[in-house]
Amino acid sequence: MSVPLAFIPTRAAALARLQEFLPIAGRYATDRNFVRPGHPNISRLSPWVQKRLLLEQEIVDAARARWPFETVEKFVQEVYWRTYWKGWLEQRPEAWSRWVEAVARLRDALSAGQRSTLEAALAGRTGIAGFDDWTKELVATGYLHNHARMWFASIWIFTLKLPWELGAAFFYEHLLDGDVASNTLSWRWVAGLQTPGKTYVAKADNIAHYTDGDHAPQASQLASAPFAIKEEPLPKVVAWTEDPAQLASLKTYERLGLWVHPEDLAVEQGELAGLKIQTINASWPKPIVKKAGWSEAVATLTQAALSDGTSRAAAHFGADVSAEPADDLSVAIVDWAQKHQLKRVVAYRPFVGPWLAEARAIESALAQAGITFTWRRRAWDSRHFPHATRGYFPFWESIKSAG
Ligand SMILES: Cc1cc2nc3c(=O)[nH]c(=O)nc-3n(C[C@H](O)[C@H](O)[C@H](O)COP(=O)(O)OP(=O)(O)OC[C@H]3O[C@@H](n4cnc5c(N)ncnc54)[C@H](O)[C@@H]3O)c2cc1C
Repeated sequence: MSVPLAFIPTRAAALARLQEFLPIAGRYATDRNFVRPGHPNISRLSPWVQKRLLLEQEIVDAARARWPFETVEKFVQEVYWRTYWKGWLEQRPEAWSRWVEAVARLRDALSAGQRSTLEAALAGRTGIAGFDDWTKELVATGYLHNHARMWFASIWIFTLKLPWELGAAFFYEHLLDGDVASNTLSWRWVAGLQTPGKTYVAKADNIAHYTDGDHAPQASQLASAPFAIKEEPLPKVVAWTEDPAQLASLKTYERLGLWVHPEDLAVEQGELAGLKIQTINASWPKPIVKKAGWSEAVATLTQAALSDGTSRAAAHFGADVSAEPADDLSVAIVDWAQKHQLKRVVAYRPFVGPWLAEARAIESALAQAGITFTWRRRAWDSRHFPHATRGYFPFWESIKSAG
């Protein structure tokens, strides 16, 4: 098992890790697939960027400033995978809602045999070299290397024949970078649902090679061929975009309330930074941990990250902060907005997932109280999301051709 990762949920720690990684970024393309103790050859930036304690733009700019583009193209491409998955899910949100619905249903519907396989998988006692160690590593550290995530998901689905939805739930429970889009859609990709006809089958020799022989399952222990998993096609929706009328009415001199949530914790950078914020709400909705299915470690870390982002926002805007944990966040936000006599609240719009569900409830509660809720979206997302309609490579070409 790898050494536990030290992950401090602050922007300062994110920037320090980025600086530490930049000299290594030049070797990323050749070394990134090797899964080594302590994960020295990858950035390990995902828990920070997932909470936007660090912005994708900052990572790409820093990598490109330090190295010629060709040297870091692979790394930059990986950073954009995150954007691609998010943009894709915004256009097919049912991939998330179906998964949420399936997790509860499938847990109750397992056969006795599947139940004991699931228990063995979750306890790290399947006897499959590598798989059992990754289970323990994930629970102990909240992190797994990308290659280990792919092998794990493949063995879960095709060797253990467990529903992919339950594997995705296990990851989402424990990953400190747990992200609805990257996680759900990567599991779907391994299962062959994301790119129809294309599955990912883990091979024993590939695992042995890329773990320097640390994990050497027997070929006979792993499924040698995938099987097809079917689903109804996902409906495509018109994704949310910023409303020009709302933007035009948002004045920099207006006194506003700001809602800060853990999907964007660098609000002092970017679109909202120039506004005149009177007061900030960063209350933690107590029921979200159970609803989302997060481990205690994920919940604790997310709250600590929220606290770091809120402190920086408060210092930047010179605004006071309300951050009492709330049984119902929408009620708490309306109370706070009324107490401060706010006419408008602004926030970055959360992405498809549990924070968007909170945001929708807040929006309707504020509307009932006669208070406007104005969403913003970062230019990065507005620019790239519309291109995430088909596969990754047309998406990447759209970025490259824009320079
Ligand atoms: C089954 C499965 C589940 C996953 N679940 C998540 C998840 O919940 N959250 C998450 O952030 N990533 C997820 N990933 C993607 C990827 O494994 C992680 O982003 C990556 O391992 C994070 O480590 P790193 O920061 O060292 O990445 P690096 O290799 O250093 O890459 C730099 C950054 O690029 C982005 N990135 C890299 N690879 C991918 C990828 N394949 N997809 C999307 N973004 C990528 C991340 O933001 C990462 O921080 C999943 C992958 C698989 C196969």
